[in-house]
Amino acid sequence: MDINQLLQGVDCACEKKHTCDIKNIYIEKNAAARLTTLCSNNRHILLVADENTFAVAGEGVVLALQGKQITKVIFPGSTLLVPNETAIAAVQAAVDGIDLIIGIGSGVIQDLCKYVSFTCRVPYMIVATAPSMDGYASNGAAMITGGMKVTYPAGLPVAIIADTEVIRNAPIEMLKAGYGDIIGKFSALNDWRLSHLINGEYFCQYIYDLTYAQIQKTLSLADGILKRNDASITALMEALIIIGILMSFAGSSRPASGSEHHLSHFFEITGILDGTPYFPHGIDVAYSTVITAKLREKILSRPFPSGIYRTSPETHTTTMNRIYQSAADGCIALQEKIGNYTADRGYLQKEDSIRAILAETPTSDEIVQMLSLADLDIAEFYELYGSEKIENAILYAKDLKDRYTVLWMNYDFYGGDANVQGY
Ligand SMILES: [Zn+2]
Ligand SMILES: [Zn+2]
Repeated sequence: MDINQLLQGVDCACEKKHTCDIKNIYIEKNAAARLTTLCSNNRHILLVADENTFAVAGEGVVLALQGKQITKVIFPGSTLLVPNETAIAAVQAAVDGIDLIIGIGSGVIQDLCKYVSFTCRVPYMIVATAPSMDGYASNGAAMITGGMKVTYPAGLPVAIIADTEVIRNAPIEMLKAGYGDIIGKFSALNDWRLSHLINGEYFCQYIYDLTYAQIQKTLSLADGILKRNDASITALMEALIIIGILMSFAGSSRPASGSEHHLSHFFEITGILDGTPYFPHGIDVAYSTVITAKLREKILSRPFPSGIYRTSPETHTTTMNRIYQSAADGCIALQEKIGNYTADRGYLQKEDSIRAILAETPTSDEIVQMLSLADLDIAEFYELYGSEKIENAILYAKDLKDRYTVLWMNYDFYGGDANVQGY
């Protein structure tokens, strides 16, 4: 697939004209050299990186920008960078007089640049250092503000640059994470189909098919990822970027983020609130995809209940306060606004179609097998989080988001029943 061709946009059968505002994407050896031409009209450029990402990719960037005025914000490499108010302030403080921001790094650095670019109205470019997540080409900036993970709308990068020699040598955990994020799309796509059926949500077969094709291509080259095989890593990076473009086409992250991402956000948020460890994003997504596959299997194995589970508002508030602490009020207000707890889904009338959609995804055993290709073992997930936390995620991760997924179906059907081991 020619990515730059895709950037031209598509007149689609879904009646949308799909567009994406990214101008150039280069995934190649010595890609940083492209910056000389790409930045020919820029005079004062802000580079944002951490010590590690600057060490692996900074030199090529500086070389390509010779003659420009350069300001740098380099975060310490020894501590985990969190995209919170402190980090935002550090970048914003350096933006004065800048006409372009270049983020050198992966997830957090890019989210920071994206956010500051949007709030300060300065364009940005990305120099990717790892094929670790699909956010490079997405317009959502995943930040931690007020102690909560919030995805802010933000602009797209003018260009994405990925030197294949740099990304190929990224830490092995980041390669696993990128692969895991791709495997999660099985679950996200299924949730999209489900919400289209239940809620009449917008759906595009072209985007669905192209996302699916990216998962399959990545899977076909999976055994080369940990070997740092050139073709496998390039394909993984392409898949992550193409899926980002497809989010632009869809107008939301819907094709790429469903119940599996909601579970991963739960582990991240509660980890931040409690000061407990959690996996890198794509690895949490990978393991959570096993869990959401189990939920679909559970629903398929039982008769549909005749009614929808509901609890009293008092019990609900108490539970939310226990789970989300300072973030509980925000979750309650969000769900009140959307009306998820009072919606009548019409499940029984649509039972046959629902069963057909749920049965389309790989089984949990198949997902476990796919993850093993990248040395990802679900046992470490059970061990780190334990059954209580996983069950809480299954029941309450849905409250963090405005999006309908299989987590809502499980809750509507079975309420407090979230036993993961017993399926
Ligand atoms: Zn379409
Ligand atoms: Zn993701």
